[in-house]
Amino acid sequence: MKFTRIAAAAAGLALALAATACGSSEKTANKEATSTWAPGALVGVTMPTKSSERWIADGNNVKAGLETLGYKVDLQYAENDIPTQVNQIENQITKGAKVLIIASIDGTAITTQLQEAAEKHIPVIAYDRLIRNSPNVDYYATFDNYRVGVQQAASLLVGLGLKREDGSDGDAKGPFNIELFAGSPDDNNATFFFNGAMDILKPYIGKGTLVVKSGQTDFKTVAILRWDPATAQKRMEDLITKTYNGGTKVQGVLSPYDGLSIGILSALKSAGYGTAGQPYPIVTGQDAEVASVKSIIAGEQYATIYKDTRELAVVAVKMADAVLKGRKPEVNNTRDYDNGVKVVPSYLLAPIVVYKSNYKSVLIDSGYYTADKLK
Ligand code: BGC
Repeated sequence: MKFTRIAAAAAGLALALAATACGSSEKTANKEATSTWAPGALVGVTMPTKSSERWIADGNNVKAGLETLGYKVDLQYAENDIPTQVNQIENQITKGAKVLIIASIDGTAITTQLQEAAEKHIPVIAYDRLIRNSPNVDYYATFDNYRVGVQQAASLLVGLGLKREDGSDGDAKGPFNIELFAGSPDDNNATFFFNGAMDILKPYIGKGTLVVKSGQTDFKTVAILRWDPATAQKRMEDLITKTYNGGTKVQGVLSPYDGLSIGILSALKSAGYGTAGQPYPIVTGQDAEVASVKSIIAGEQYATIYKDTRELAVVAVKMADAVLKGRKPEVNNTRDYDNGVKVVPSYLLAPIVVYKSNYKSVLIDSGYYTADKLK
């Protein structure tokens, strides 16, 4: 029997949503009580790009979950182009969307559209990425982004032998040469990932156990605009040429996203890394994308962070359903996500580190991927 991932996701969503319908932990909200829910109401969903698998899965899962509950869905992708996403949101408002679920490209660029949505009493749910500088963001569904950064740094330490997977100290002493990469500066998550990672790495850098040989440790210097793999590849090539030119090797690279890790590994390969005599440095990642999990299995990329996008979709769909029915969605964090205007009530999910040693139990046993897909 062919059990596809989408079908699995849809079935999972249906079950999860049915479960909430009975044991409702949602209370009646004042603000949302004004929204009129009609069966078949339109929900506008905007995602950043199809160039990364995770967003394709997110979009499909959110759409399937909403449709299971009887809503109509307008799902749009903007290929990382800000004006395109702005137009898509405007169109959804014009088409009469009753709630907007937005995974923004630039978290500061849609203030005007959100003002328009607020005037029309359309609630807004920020999906995965916080929307900044606007009072008109009602809820935020995401993962614990600071923890993602902590886990990325932890996986780097494990790969270098400074720590073990169980968190105990490893036998290695260093010093190790490392380089740092961060995500897109206009994505609020990128700062959370970087800060989480640096809180773990700084003491090691302070003691000289880890050496950032290029000297580039500042977020703005190491950030990769739009999370573009080619830009990361180019930066790694430049680092190799300028910093690792006299026989010194780079032994670890903090990479915040699998797409960047692939670009970084490719630059390293061109420079002669990836052989028995000159192994790849420890390279981290995020999203457990198929190509990177295969790379981990092949012993190239060292680790990634798994964020179950099926669960994130369930959270966002439950939030949308609650606001449309005049109820208050369940949240579990009302402290950490200040968007510059207000603290946005959030629901945070837990990320998991994936190594070659646990990918089967984390990714295959959970049904996220079939074993075939990773061959
Ligand atoms: C997401 C990550 C993703 C990155 C690049 C971030 O906002 O949280 O999961 O790797 O964007 O798409």
